[in-house]
Formats: sequence, C-alpha cells, structure tokens
Amino acid sequence: MISLDTPLAQLPRISPQRLDGLRRLGCRTVRDLLWYLPRRHDDQRERVTVSQLRAGQAATVEVDVVAVRARRARYRKMDLIEGEVGDSTGVVEVVWFNQPHLRHLLQPGDRVTLHGKAVRGRRGGLQLRNPDLERERKLVSQSSVGVLVPTYPETYGVTSRWLRAQVAQLLPLAASIEDPLPDEIRQRERLIPLATALRDIHFPEDQGALDRAQERFGFDELFYPQLAALMARRQRLRRAGVRSPYSVGIAREFVAGLPFQLTDDQRLAAHEILTDMDRPSPMNRLLQGDVGSGKTVVAAMAARMAIAARHQVVLMAPTEILARQHFLTLRELLSKFEIWPRLLVGSTPAAQRREILAGLGTGADQLVIGTHALIEDDVALPDLGLCIVDEQHRFGVAQRLRLLEKAQVNPDFLSMTATPIPRSLARTLYGDLDVSQIRHLPPNRIPIQTRLVEPAQRSAAYDFIRAEVRAGRQGFIICPLVEDSPLRQSRSATTEFERLQSEILPDLRLTLLHGKMPARDKVQRMQAFANGEFDILVATSIIEVGVDVPNATVMGIEDADRFGLAQLHQFRGRIGRGPYPSHCLLFAESAELGARSRLQALVDHQDGFELAEIDLRQRGAGEPYGLRQHGLPEMRVGDLLDEGLRRRARSAAEALLDRDPELRDQGLRRQMRHYQVVFEFD
Ligand code: ADP
Ligand code: MG
Repeated sequence: MISLDTPLAQLPRISPQRLDGLRRLGCRTVRDLLWYLPRRHDDQRERVTVSQLRAGQAATVEVDVVAVRARRARYRKMDLIEGEVGDSTGVVEVVWFNQPHLRHLLQPGDRVTLHGKAVRGRRGGLQLRNPDLERERKLVSQSSVGVLVPTYPETYGVTSRWLRAQVAQLLPLAASIEDPLPDEIRQRERLIPLATALRDIHFPEDQGALDRAQERFGFDELFYPQLAALMARRQRLRRAGVRSPYSVGIAREFVAGLPFQLTDDQRLAAHEILTDMDRPSPMNRLLQGDVGSGKTVVAAMAARMAIAARHQVVLMAPTEILARQHFLTLRELLSKFEIWPRLLVGSTPAAQRREILAGLGTGADQLVIGTHALIEDDVALPDLGLCIVDEQHRFGVAQRLRLLEKAQVNPDFLSMTATPIPRSLARTLYGDLDVSQIRHLPPNRIPIQTRLVEPAQRSAAYDFIRAEVRAGRQGFIICPLVEDSPLRQSRSATTEFERLQSEILPDLRLTLLHGKMPARDKVQRMQAFANGEFDILVATSIIEVGVDVPNATVMGIEDADRFGLAQLHQFRGRIGRGPYPSHCLLFAESAELGARSRLQALVDHQDGFELAEIDLRQRGAGEPYGLRQHGLPEMRVGDLLDEGLRRRARSAAEALLDRDPELRDQGLRRQMRHYQVVFEFD
C-alpha cells in the first residue's frame, strides 16, 4: 500500500541514481513529491517554427536533431552538449550545460520538442540555451494531462517528464490529504480545497483552474507565516520580562556626552527602544539603518539604560572584526559611566577567557561584546536583561535561542541590521517584530558618487584609484568569490590581487582578504589596512560586514552584476565614512544589457531601503527571496509583492486568533511547526 508517507525508495522501478536526484530536490516521501511544484506550465499548442524564434523569448519548437556533440568547456568542470536542430524554416544552435547524459539520448535525425529561451549566441546567431527536451509528442501517456503541461525544476536523473508521470500516478492519494486551513476561512476567502489545488497546480484543465490553484497555495504561503508571527507576538506581550526603567536623566546625560548631535531618526529610534525596555513584557525590536547611519550609538544608549537597571547586556556580532569595532566604540561611549565592556571572541586567550567568564558569572561585569564565542555552554550571564545582536540574519536561529537561554528571565531583544529589509518582506515575515528605522545618515556625510565603468575606461579607472592613493586616501577592490555562471569567467580575489600587484598597480601597497583565511589573519590584515599600512584592500564579499576605515574613499567592484543590488549597496557603505568625497566604480564588462541597466539603480539611488525594494521587484515573483536565510520555508507560489493577498491573509489570521487565541486547532498547530523555530511561541 502506497501512502503519502511512503519513502520514494519503496516505489517500483526507481533507481538509486534517481533517488539521489530526488533527494537533492528535497523529495524523500510521496508527500514531498506531490508537493514538488511545477516551475511553470507550457501551453503545448503554442508552437513556433525556427524562423519565428526571437531572442529573449521562451518558445516551443518541434525540430529534428541535425548534429550533436559533447565538449568540455574551459570553464571549470563544465560539460557542454552542443548541437544544431532545425525544421523546414531554418536551423538553430542549441546548448546544454552540465547535462552530459543528454549526449546519449540524442542522435542526428531524432525528432524532439524543445522548450526554452532563445538568446543571442557568441557568434551572433540565435541559440536555445538549456531547453527542456521532449522526445515524444505525447508527453505523458495515459494521464490526465491537459494542454497545460507542467515543467519542474530538474536535476541529474530527474526530468520533468519523469516527474509528470509519477505525479500523475500518485495524485489520487491527494484526496486523503487533510486540509489544515479551517473550512470557515477557506469559504470566506472563496478558496478551493487543498486536494483540488494540489491536483490543479500540477495538471490544470485550463488557465482558470491553474489560477485558482495558485491563489490557494499563494494564500497559504502568506497566511501561515503571518499567523505564526501574530501568535508569537501575542504570546510575547503576555509574558513576563525584565524592566529597565526609562530614566530621562540618564538619557540626557548620555546624549550630552556625545561628540555630536543625534539625528532625529536616532533620537526616535532610541526613544522607541527605551520605551519598550520600560515595559514589563520582553522587547523584540529590529533597528534598521544603512551602514554608517549610527546604530551603534543607539544600541549603546540602550545598554546604558539596562545596566543602570542592574541588568547584564550582551552584544553579539557575526565576525571578530565587527565585534572588536563594537567593543572599541562602546568602551569609548560608556567608560565615562564606569562601564567597562569585555570582549569575548574565538581568539581570546584561555587565561583571559577564564577571567572574563568569572566576571560575567558573578554579575560583576555588566557588558560583554563578542562573536559566537558568547554562546558556548560555559558562558553564564545570570543577570542578562538585554541581548543585542548585530546582523542577526548571519546567525542561525538556534544560536540566537542559545543566547537568549542564558537569561533567567525573558530578556529584551534588540537586533540591528544594515541590510534593509523591503517593506513587503518585513510585513509578511516580521509580524512579531517592532521596527525602528534610521533612514537618514548623519549630516556630515558626503554622498558617494557611483559610476558604471565602460570597458574602454578600465585603465582610466585604475588611474583614478592611483590618484586617490597619491592624495593620501585608500581603496577597496571587491571580487566575487566563486564563479557560478557557466558563461562568464569571473575575477577571483586571489588572481586579481596578483594581477593588480604585479601588472597594474605595482607602485601601490596591496593586501588581500578573503573568507578562507584564518580569522587571525583577517583581523591582522584588516587592522593593518585600517592603520594605513596598505593602500588597497582586495577582498571578497566578506568586506560586506562592518569595516570602518574613514580614510577609504574609492571602491572598485569587479563583475558587479554578480551581486544583488542590496549587497552592492552594503559594499558601497564601506566608503564615504570620512570627510572626503568618495567614489564607487562598478565594473561589469561581461554583463548583458539587462544586468547593466539593473546596476543603473545603484548609480541613481543612495537610499538602501529604496534599493532593497527595487531589488525585490526586479527579481520578481516566483524567485526565492532568501527566506531560508531567515529560517523560513521558501515561497514557491505566493507572491510577497501581492499586497492584496497578503492583507487578506493577515486579517484572516487576526480574526482566527481573536476566536481561538491559544490555537487549539490541531491541523493548524501542526502546520505552524515549520515556523516555530523562527517565531517563538508555545
Ligand atoms: P552603523 O553601526 O549604523 O553602521 P555606526 O554606529 O558605526 O554606524 O556609526 C558610524 C559613524 O558615524 C561612527 O563613527 C559614529 O561615531 C558616527 N556617528 C553616529 N551618529 C552620528 C551623528 N548623529 N552625527 C555624526 N556622526 C555620527
Ligand atoms: Mg555598525
């Protein structure tokens, strides 16, 4: 008897290789397979002839194989299958990457149906790149396939054709699926039952059926995380936490001791945080602000207030470099109040570590700053009242929980991020978070000039960098770490470092920084660069997080199109931190036109929030949004940007919790388990 929980290994005629492939796709059981959703549906009626193919458009052609050959590309470990296919109207090139098995499936003279995107090939002609391949006219024999045929994300050993046949066969099991969405909500929202949706998302009769199935899945994907977030929020607000009374006197004294005036945004953020901390329920607040917007000083004020209330405070940062910087900043800001922070990182010597642990364990030390080293089991923080985590998305959810568990009460929690989270994302996923934003940089900043460098301007760009150094400034050159595109060779930091040092800028002092170095080396090189011992720092994306070198005024980014806009904006925030005008040079020589115009957004916008929103929109619906990074299931159907559907899902979740505050509905409870790691609720 096959059921939803049957492991795929027990299905008849399933090879170990295919099982491997399925595992890679995340499918272990029949249930997983049924939930492996199509990437798109193709209307099989819409076939075109070869002469009707257009660059940039996806199309289906029925063609004969003219020639086919296998080749090993010069790019790393890349197998190419190349060939020509044609019909009575013409011939077109076709190429597949890393699918060597196709070589044995294709012979000249074969008739095949290809579906894929036509692009301009290197020699100017059209090329079908990685098209889906069908060898027979009938895509799935004896199944209920309509004219809308599903195509799935494939992997070695698992083709869409195979998936279609399997899913068609197993789909009757869907009838026994329990629908976790309460009938009441489903009917009020006019949504179709889950079993129907599952059938139609694979094999819809027509577009209408597909739309209804997508609406149902889309609703679910927006409903469950919001329900989880709202529930966590309601529970948190009922929980007992610690109070740090908001003393206006202490706040005034802190501000008066600063060498600058707080901006309005900083003041408001600090006020919101201190107000939360004054409440008996635990705070859960996110402080968002671009790099250099001055979050640290706001965090320091919160720490000051918590310590005044006799609580311990911990600040955890994702890297040692960043932890050290925070340590120095906080010591500078707080030592005048007799608060002496401790620094605890991986490289802290054993003897010193013991001493720090002792001071924290007795409660004698009130403030500790560090990295993952803070969550080690032997670190005790008996009076912990405020946890501050910088760039929280860089930590696992479990790590944050381990930090919180060091407290005997529910401590206040403040996370800080310079990664602006687009509003649409935040609204869906962070229903449990209160957000404070610092939108404007301190007034003493000079805006950074950003330019796209044309290939012919490359040497002029190097001259510019050299001139900056001659004028006493420093610079960064960022390279993508790994090449992940089969089509382009990207510049790796190590090779680029050697090339620059020996050929291009031999007269300058260069140093190299990348993630594979031992932490100690990284810190040393960074420190040496910050001390002015080097002119140029060649680095990979690890530079993204908090590096403060106000003397650095120029940044070149190689293969800029390889990075997301939000990330590029983060890089750029490493310059423009001092009193000098700064310049960011984007190199993207091999980029296609679309990618270059995407980069234009960076030239036009300085505001990280705006860029994050543009980034999300440009990626469009159906793309992963990095939810996994936040510990959440990816949205596969739902559209984060669908504000209407999001609102519907949210009010349905609110109404449900009003009726059933403890969420007694068992089906829903089970569904919520996916989110429990992110949103803490009982
Ligand atoms: P973030 O942590 O948001 O990247 P920091 O807190 O490190 O930013 O602040 C960046 C720099 O700006 C620091 O040198 C800090 O002293 C300075 N700074 C912060 N707030 C102000 C302000 N209101 N006016 C002037 N300089 C400020
Ligand atoms: Mg900072």
